[in-house]
Amino acid sequence: MSKAIDVHLSQLKFPPACVVCMSPASKQYELERIFSYGRSKSYTVKVSVPMCELHFEAASFKGTAERLVGILGVIIGIFAGLIAVIILLTHWVSTGERNIILNLFAGGVFGLGVFIMVWAGISFWLAPLFAVPESKEARNAVKITQYWPKDQFVQLEFQNESLAEIVQKAN
Ligand SMILES: [Zn+2]
Repeated sequence: MSKAIDVHLSQLKFPPACVVCMSPASKQYELERIFSYGRSKSYTVKVSVPMCELHFEAASFKGTAERLVGILGVIIGIFAGLIAVIILLTHWVSTGERNIILNLFAGGVFGLGVFIMVWAGISFWLAPLFAVPESKEARNAVKITQYWPKDQFVQLEFQNESLAEIVQKAN
């Protein structure tokens, strides 16, 4: 059974034990999640969780399928960016915009934005779905499930119920 706890981000403390197997931890694995509120507000929440050598390796390991999807993300991102620039420039040419330098600059910025969006979507969302089971297990031992920016509370979901209780008591 998993257990979710709410803790203040700055007061979050973990015991020096691996979050997957509870053996002595020697590494810190960084969890990261981006929460978006409306169009302009987004928060990147980072939490470092202790792990033993073995589970740190498992969490960091990227199998062939996951890496391939990651590379595919870069390629598709570049194509999407280029197509966006071409469409934009074609549109400007057809409407008779004269300032070529400004158009090229704005087109470049726009193309880069499209690239980042497509690439980030594929590499942060799609690629991890292709991770090997051991990686998924280690990465999902603790999950950031919610964040309240106003009071900086974060909700963490633990696969290990007793570890959740230890962390909750320590805060
Ligand atoms: Zn471990």
